[in-house]
Amino acid sequence: MKRCSKCGIEKDESEFYKKKSHKDGLNSQCKQCVREYDEQNKERIKKYQKEYRKENAAGIKEYQLKYRIQNKGKLSNYFKEYRELEKIHISTARQAYNMQNKDNISLRKAMYYEQNKELLSKKKKDYYLKNRERILKYQKEYREQNKETISLQKKEYCAQNAERISQHYKEYREQNKDIIAKRKKNYYDKNKEHILANRKIKGVKSCQ
Ligand SMILES: [Zn+2]
Repeated sequence: MKRCSKCGIEKDESEFYKKKSHKDGLNSQCKQCVREYDEQNKERIKKYQKEYRKENAAGIKEYQLKYRIQNKGKLSNYFKEYRELEKIHISTARQAYNMQNKDNISLRKAMYYEQNKELLSKKKKDYYLKNRERILKYQKEYREQNKETISLQKKEYCAQNAERISQHYKEYREQNKDIIAKRKKNYYDKNKEHILANRKIKGVKSCQ
């Protein structure tokens, strides 16, 4: 047992922090008194720092500004490096997570899509309608600027998906017989002379 020098209460030795410099190897004040002192002190320090910052706001600001100017290159490098490191860290962590949860994620995505199909397609449609002119203009510009690439891509796609495409057209024709016949008739009526003149030349198929 040992008596605390502050509160004067006699307490078990486990109630005192160790202090090598003391004869008995224990602090003269009990743990509770030390904690109370730290707590009070903390508030006092905090208050002091707050007052100091308030009173010296202008000076601190000036000092910080000077520091930033003097260390501009160093700091911007530091932040750049920090951001790069952070990026790598985040992307690695994300990749690892994605790898580990690949099945879960794709399942979740599919489920989300399935559950929100109508909402999503409505959103898409709304967006298109709202931005129609902008989108069409962009698409036109893109097509004009990338004519060759697009025709090449188209050819490749057609070659790779020939069977699927012809199947699709077949289904489409079967499902839309009436519309197609009507369209054909309209076209024929409008272009009668032209068609009759070119009858012998075979029509170009859609995939070209
Ligand atoms: Zn005490």
